[in-house]
Amino acid sequence: MNMNLNEILNTAYGRSISECSNAEIYAALLKETDAMASKKCHASGKKKLYYISAEFLIGKLLSNNLINLGVYEDVRKQLAENGKEICEIEEIEHEPSLGNGGLGRLAACFLDSIATLGLHGDGIGLNYHFGLFRQVFANNAQTTVPDPWLDEHCWLNRTDVTYPVKFKDMEATARLYEIHVTGYDSVTNKLRLFDIEGVDESIVKDGIAFDKSEIAKNLTLFLYPDDSDEAGRLLRIYQQYFMVSAGAQLILDECIARGCTLYDLPDYAVIQINDTHPTMVIPELIRLLMEREIPMDDAISIVSRTCAYTNHTILAEALEKWHIAQLNQVVPQLLPIIEVLDNKIRRKFDNPSVYIIDRDERVHMAHIDIHYGFSVNGVAYLHTDILKNEELHHFYKLYPEKFNNKTNGITFRRWLMHCNPELSALITELIGDGWKKNAEELEKLLAFRSDKEVLQRLLHVKEQKKHQLAAYLAKTQGISLNADSIFDIQVKRLHEYKRQQLNALYVIHKYLEIKSGKLPKTPITVLFGAKAAPAYTIAQDIIHLILCLQELIENDPAVSSYLHVVMVENYNVTLAEKLIPACDISEQISLASKEASGTGNMKFMLNGAVTLGTEDGANVEIHQLVGDENIYIFGDDSSTVVERYKNGSYNANQYYAENPPLKKAVDFIMGEALAEIGDRVRLERLFKELTTKDWFMTFPDFERYVTARESAYADYENRMEWAEKILTNISKAGYFSSDRTIAEYNSDIWKL
Ligand SMILES: *Cc1c(COP(=O)(O)O)cnc(C)c1O
Repeated sequence: MNMNLNEILNTAYGRSISECSNAEIYAALLKETDAMASKKCHASGKKKLYYISAEFLIGKLLSNNLINLGVYEDVRKQLAENGKEICEIEEIEHEPSLGNGGLGRLAACFLDSIATLGLHGDGIGLNYHFGLFRQVFANNAQTTVPDPWLDEHCWLNRTDVTYPVKFKDMEATARLYEIHVTGYDSVTNKLRLFDIEGVDESIVKDGIAFDKSEIAKNLTLFLYPDDSDEAGRLLRIYQQYFMVSAGAQLILDECIARGCTLYDLPDYAVIQINDTHPTMVIPELIRLLMEREIPMDDAISIVSRTCAYTNHTILAEALEKWHIAQLNQVVPQLLPIIEVLDNKIRRKFDNPSVYIIDRDERVHMAHIDIHYGFSVNGVAYLHTDILKNEELHHFYKLYPEKFNNKTNGITFRRWLMHCNPELSALITELIGDGWKKNAEELEKLLAFRSDKEVLQRLLHVKEQKKHQLAAYLAKTQGISLNADSIFDIQVKRLHEYKRQQLNALYVIHKYLEIKSGKLPKTPITVLFGAKAAPAYTIAQDIIHLILCLQELIENDPAVSSYLHVVMVENYNVTLAEKLIPACDISEQISLASKEASGTGNMKFMLNGAVTLGTEDGANVEIHQLVGDENIYIFGDDSSTVVERYKNGSYNANQYYAENPPLKKAVDFIMGEALAEIGDRVRLERLFKELTTKDWFMTFPDFERYVTARESAYADYENRMEWAEKILTNISKAGYFSSDRTIAEYNSDIWKL
């Protein structure tokens, strides 16, 4: 296929490429590309997958769609011939504010792979107007403002389809919007997003504050609205029910249109429930089937054979539980159904830990999914093992056949072809372009392991990407980077279990070492990027610490040429696409057992970064694939950690008192240097949290972390050996293609 840009622009504006502004070119390209996507063959078939998720972190779509439609190179050339850079056109696009972190990005990668494999499947979600928030730093702290993305030129198409959604105190109208999802050289599917009619952006005042009780106006304004008060928690229930009720009505309509009698719904639909947020789709579907005269027991059986659940976390606080009284205030129509579902379980099993409603009248959403779905999957081998043997052991004993693992993956179209065309071109030159459709072919690169010229070229690509990142951050955030330094990067949501605080302690340690005259051979740049939930105080404190360290070190001429700490503002997909290809060392340092899989780790590996990480999530599988020589693993393993939690033996203060280098770094948080820059309340609270609790056990891993990091820095000095590690990581990354993950979902769960 090709696209004649001059002709398109002439028709639209009566002008040529060089006479149009970037914004005009973007608008015309968007329109043309979207039309092309919609004209592509749409996947079809009797059975259809519905992937329901509270978030889809899809990223900008222009380049992705041009690549998938096979016209990227053509468009890039036409622009270049007229003095325009495609990346400048991309700058015009707003990143859709439809997701938050890994779970939402996974959903986006899955949509890409589902379409690429030609599978019949759509995403279902909500059309948030302002996303989570846009992060702005002020006074070394995070502040939050809305993150608008909807404007007249965007990928969202309005439809005429609406559904009524009834709540206890009101009835709302859900309107369906759609975004085309292009597969790579394949079919087009859709992301179906519901919005509430009457939504009112003007009620947002002072950053991201708004009246949480005005449901008719606020329901689709924000993703994960602050739930530290009751109104916020109820709003989340309104959102969840709105999404699943409209989604369930759409699913039933489509299946009936394809010839379904409702009794055979499992032959027409499979619903993948992404984490617990969409769980109410189960009782809602049962309710809708009963409204259509299907007896309750039949309805329960039909729905149970249609729904499958993916678990994404073992953090107890992240497993949703809604109080009966809360559900009664919003969706009383679901309670009789949930009670019947619970009663059936109570009659069958004599174990309160598997009941749906607990003694405190809280409804455990995951328990609904496990009992009344036909599949329960974890997202990496270690995670699935922990589910089976620890967190969900009682359920595993009841339903061993339901449990299965689907190790996460990422789409190589976005996370290599789009974000790193230089590396893609080199790979293709070396092994042909079969890897674009069959990622395992990357293994062919191993043949070049001792080819000096190839290794040099790999290092050269890395250098190019570092310079590009430096230029981008200079332009967009006023940050200047030394592209000749080691880029050591930790970018991901801010959470104590991900342990940005451990990385910060290392930074302090290194700072003190440099002050004392122990200088690194190559300067080090430590990059952070992370948003923290506004109500998560300790996470805010960790951001504050990092920003204070950044200021301190920047203004210390004895240190600043050796160590540079940078926290980029508003980490999102667009930034990830620039940061990841430029990375030398990928920080994946969660407390073992806590990171279900991680997908950032896979993106970094694919782009030739070497992992410094714990034996956690998919790091375990990366380790197995690349071998000890090509990864830096440190710290306690998950069984040690699980045991330590079980026997409650961990005493942070003892570690602190007995390890002088650790104590020195921790004490620095309370020292004079930071007191001059930072907020005493924040720093003191963080110090206390670490020295008295340290719930995510940073102290026991600290010394081994320092050792592993130093050995990575030392190995970096031997450029040829380092290049071999880069090559090995890239060549073993094929397993982490989401095409492989989706093929497994399809053969084991969906059976489309
Ligand atoms: C991949 C990705 C994530 C997930 O990163 P983890 O390191 O797996 O937590 C989060 N945010 C963005 C923008 C991403 O691209």
